[in-house]
Amino acid sequence: MDCAKSLELLSEYHAGTLEEVEMLEIRAHLQACSPCADVFHDMVLIVQTAQSLCDAVDTIAFPDEDALWRRLCAARGSLH
Ligand SMILES: [Zn+2]
Repeated sequence: MDCAKSLELLSEYHAGTLEEVEMLEIRAHLQACSPCADVFHDMVLIVQTAQSLCDAVDTIAFPDEDALWRRLCAARGSLH
């Protein structure tokens, strides 16, 4: 599992939709790779913030998680 693959699957890892073997590979990668762990940490915060905002103000359309994730990937382009 390299960083590019890890980042590609991180959103699904967070959502819990990966195969168990992939979940384990990413978990192992995050424990060994602090840049990817930082990205995952940021993603968790962004998703939590977006969800809490959505819950609080359901009349405003917020970007979905995939859009946020793509923006985060672009911001972290040096990792690719
Ligand atoms: Zn990595």
